[in-house]
Amino acid sequence: MNLTVRILWGMGAGLALGALIKWMGQSQLLAPVFMQVIDTYFVEGIFLLVGKIFVASLKLLVVPLVFVSLVCGAGALGDNSKLGRIGLKTVGLYLVTTAIAIVVALFVANLVDPGMGVNMAAGTTFVAKESPPFINVLINIFPSNPVKAMAEGNMLQVIVFAILLGIAVARSGEPGARVIQFFTDLNEVIMKLVTMLMALAPYGVFCLMAQLFAHQGIGVIGDLAWYFFTVIVVLLLHGLGTYAILLKIIGRLNPQHFYRKMRATMLFAFSTASSNATMPVTLRTVEYRLGVKNSIASFTVPLGATINMDGTAIMQGVATVFIAQAYNIDIGLTGYLMVIITATLASIGTAGVPGVGLITLAMVLQQVGLPVEGIALIIGVDRLLDMVRTAVNVTGDATVSCLVAASEGQLEQETFDDPEAGEVIPEHS
Ligand code: ASP
Repeated sequence: MNLTVRILWGMGAGLALGALIKWMGQSQLLAPVFMQVIDTYFVEGIFLLVGKIFVASLKLLVVPLVFVSLVCGAGALGDNSKLGRIGLKTVGLYLVTTAIAIVVALFVANLVDPGMGVNMAAGTTFVAKESPPFINVLINIFPSNPVKAMAEGNMLQVIVFAILLGIAVARSGEPGARVIQFFTDLNEVIMKLVTMLMALAPYGVFCLMAQLFAHQGIGVIGDLAWYFFTVIVVLLLHGLGTYAILLKIIGRLNPQHFYRKMRATMLFAFSTASSNATMPVTLRTVEYRLGVKNSIASFTVPLGATINMDGTAIMQGVATVFIAQAYNIDIGLTGYLMVIITATLASIGTAGVPGVGLITLAMVLQQVGLPVEGIALIIGVDRLLDMVRTAVNVTGDATVSCLVAASEGQLEQETFDDPEAGEVIPEHS
């Protein structure tokens, strides 16, 4: 069985078991003492333990991988003007795809009217975290202490440091070549570690799903069905439609090949709800399976995991319309324009971790003068949506990586078209 199928089994079994536990608890089928045992030893015991360790081991690889891989990438490119061009293209495409996502979300949400007739839950409260001013977000991209940046997992700072080091390495002649050789070897070793951990994914995913669904019933969708399904429909439209069109038209690449190879990565994103934790897997897929050269992927993927969140922007678009309707406030055309701009920019300074979309949503709502407490209305289904939108977020990162690579002649077409490519990395590749 290949990895994707095994992860799917793990996911399905975990989901079913979690839902069964939840149902047994609600229907009081088993004596409370049994339920307590299940809860203590399984749900909050083994499932929680294995799930947390699985996510931690993925996260563990993020900083070393981004740093090592990007020093190699920037070192190989070396040339500043090339780096600048690739940087502009990447950021430009990330912003444009996010803007498309949110425009589609606003359009569909206005057709569906998900918030019409919603009874606002009285007395609900949601306290938004203070978001930093945009200028601070920009200042914070530049590290003053690389070790601190790595320790805190501040991805943009790590990216800047790695690029600077890579450029210096490329300009350092003989010593630079030695450093690059070392980093290239280290990169291979870390990738090997990613592959080893991926093999454990079916068990990790099983436990994550079982733990989540033992708590999170599908019943929460209830009143929010229109909101929930509108977000899902737009996520599917964007995740399967917009990207396929962009790949076909701009990249001249076969979308089917792309999606087939992205399946396992999407499942990782879905079950961890974190683009950041999925990043090592995304990078491996983009390089080894889709054929994007390391010089592009090492930059586009980590950057995307941090600044590109199309799925999140879609949720924010629909949520804004929903909350405006629930509170009966008309935000007008300028309001919508503000939503597009804020939602596109809001994701830049926030890392791709579970639930971060709600924090940036608070920023969007404040910007257009909608009550931030409105978030309490949708919070119940957010964890479920978070999983789907994270899968869209990472698919967006991979799409843009392929587009940039194709436009730079840095995509190996043979690898992209080969269904087997990168399934297994040979022992000494
Ligand atoms: N969980 C999402 C991600 O990691 C962010 C969000 O929408 O909350 O990409």
